[in-house]
Parts: sequence; structure tokens; C-alpha cells
Amino acid sequence: MPPEVIYVDHHATTPCDPRVVEKMLPYFTEHFGNPASITHPHGHKASLAVEDARASVARFFGVVPAEVYFTAGATESNNIALNLVQPGQHFITSQTEHKSILAPAERLSKNGIDVTYLRPDAEGFIHPEALAAELRPETRLVSIEAANGEIGTVQPVAELAALCRERGVLFHTDATQAAGKIPLDFTNIDVASFSAHKMYGPKGIGGLLVRRGVRVNPVIVGGGQERGVRSGTVNVPAVVGLAAALQLRVEEMAEEALRLTQIRDRLRDRLLEVIAGVSVNGPRELRLPGNLNVSFVRIDAESLLPAMKRFSLSSGSACSSGEKGPSRVLKAIGVDDAAAMGSVRIGLGKSNTAEQMEMLVDDLQRAVRRLREITPA
Ligand code: PMP
Repeated sequence: MPPEVIYVDHHATTPCDPRVVEKMLPYFTEHFGNPASITHPHGHKASLAVEDARASVARFFGVVPAEVYFTAGATESNNIALNLVQPGQHFITSQTEHKSILAPAERLSKNGIDVTYLRPDAEGFIHPEALAAELRPETRLVSIEAANGEIGTVQPVAELAALCRERGVLFHTDATQAAGKIPLDFTNIDVASFSAHKMYGPKGIGGLLVRRGVRVNPVIVGGGQERGVRSGTVNVPAVVGLAAALQLRVEEMAEEALRLTQIRDRLRDRLLEVIAGVSVNGPRELRLPGNLNVSFVRIDAESLLPAMKRFSLSSGSACSSGEKGPSRVLKAIGVDDAAAMGSVRIGLGKSNTAEQMEMLVDDLQRAVRRLREITPA
């Protein structure tokens, strides 16, 4: 890959911050102990590192350390969360969730659990009234993402969670795209999933926050690590990396959010100005700072992306790139198939600059013009 390729796909993943890597390194070689081996100094050192990391993750999210469980990422956390629902109970989620919610939801359905998929409005929002209308006495769990990774919609999770609390229903949020990007209020949230690689931490490590008093059933059983919620030797370097990444977010999140919002808005305005037949998918406000999703009339993103040689960008959720056809999220908000097939997702992050956005506008303008010239009207 030539070095000049600019990365604008930060919803798929982010580069691990070198300061995070530096914190992790000693835990591969020097402090390599198994944190479960607390009878000797090597194990004790590793265990201390894991518990320090737990305390720091808890501080970040405003919960207590006993409510933090380390997992191999948000996919695993989401699977554990949905295990809360038992046969005979009812589960509510939305049509725009990540596959790591929708696939276990389908499995619940096959196991005789009634699942309701809320439909978002045209900007991707799930309204508390829409949720209230579906709550039943047998509803056990509601799972709504904190923010969407394709169109950036930031859900009113505090209100949705408050409603569930009032009705005695458990509320889970998949905070993978939101954590470390925007402030989150966990007051009424019972269970939450997050992942380090979306916030400049390492891949393959994440966590599940579980409010005290809520008992989750593990997906992986074995040695009983993580108080039985996630068996398997704890990945100490990764846990240290997760905590280090979150610590950096404390220091850098607010400023970065402001800067990314500015360059994103400017990018959106410039695209609308210089290219005909562009529409913005998703909300204008209450949107993830670095997210932009646009559709180009008479363009197929599958032809557009290879023409964008100077940029790594995506035409949908990278995790779903195995899926063919128009994006499920865009369909759910009422974008027609042609516009969905001509959509590009831009995910800005730390390394992106205003100057790069000018290059992106130029390259998109040129590529769209060329493709339209060779496409019959
Ligand atoms: N939920 C959302 C909203 C995501 O965007 C992703 C990653 N694309 C996941 C869950 C899965 O996270 P992980 O890669 O840590 O399994």
C-alpha cells in the first residue's frame, strides 16, 4: 500500500496510538504472568495491572470496578448481553443495530423468544414513544445502540433507558461506536458493550459493563475468569492497552470531537456545493463527530471506491462487507436502493486534516464526473 493513502474509515477500526502500544509492551515480555496465578509475584504483578485497568475503565464510564468485565470485544459483549433473555420472554432491539446484535437476536427468535425490531425515523432515531408502544409485561431486555456506525445517529439512550427503568425492563446499549467519541450517561443503563479498537486501542479486547444485581450468563465457560462471565486467561497487554486508550480519550475526546465536527461539516458543505446529485444520509445534528454518509445519484459505490486511490473509505459497514446489496441501515431509514448503492461512508479520526478534506472533495468530484460520463443516463 503506498504511504500516501489517507485513512478515512475510522468506524471500521482506528490505528492503535503509539502511546498505548508503549504501555502494553512490558506486559508481553517482562510482566507476562497469568493474573490468575496470584500465589507468586509474576501473577500478582499481572493481576494488579488488570485491576488497575478495571478501576480506570470504571472511572471513565462512571461505574464501579465490580461492574466492569473484560471480553474479546464488542461482538462477544453483545452476545453475553443478549443471553439475558430466556424462552418465554420478549426482547426489543432496532433494525439498525450491528450484526453482533442482530445475529444473536435471530438465534433468540429461533429459540422461541419473541423479538421486536423497532423501525427508526428517516434520520435513524429511535424515539422513546416508539419504544413505549412495544413494551409488554414479559419484555425482559431492550438493546439500542448508543450511536450508529454507518450514519452516525446518536440515539437518545438516556431517555430510552429511563423509560425501561420505569417499567422494570433491563436496558442494554451497544456503545461501540460512541464510547470515547461522545459523552455517555450510564445512569439508567443496566448493561453496555464497548471495544478498544474503535478508540485508538488494540483489537480483540473490549468490555461489558453490568450493573450490580444484574446476573449475565456467559457465552464462554471454563476456568471462571472475570468472575465467571468470561472464562479464558485474561489478555493482560490488551487490557492495559484498553485502559491506556480510554485515559487518552479523557484528555483528548472533547477537543477532537469539536475539530472533527468542523472539518466534517465543511466536507459535507463542499460536497453539496461542488457535486450535483449528492444527498446526505443520516441526521444533521446529534451525529457522531467524524461521521458523514453521502449518496451520489447515478453512481455505484462499488465502482467509485476503486477509483478513489488516495483514500481508504467504505461503502457500508466494513464488518458487513461480506453482505451484498444495499445497506440494511440505509434501507431502514427509507433510502431507496439506488441511492443506497451509491453511498459512501466517511469516518474521520485523529489523523485527518482540513487539507485532506479538500483532497477528498477533489478526488470525489473527479471520480464521480468520470463515472457519470461512462454511465448511460
Ligand atoms: N457494535 C458496533 C456498533 C460496531 O461498530 C462493531 C464493530 N464494527 C461491533 C459491535 C463489533 O465490535 P468488535 O469488532 O470489537 O467485535
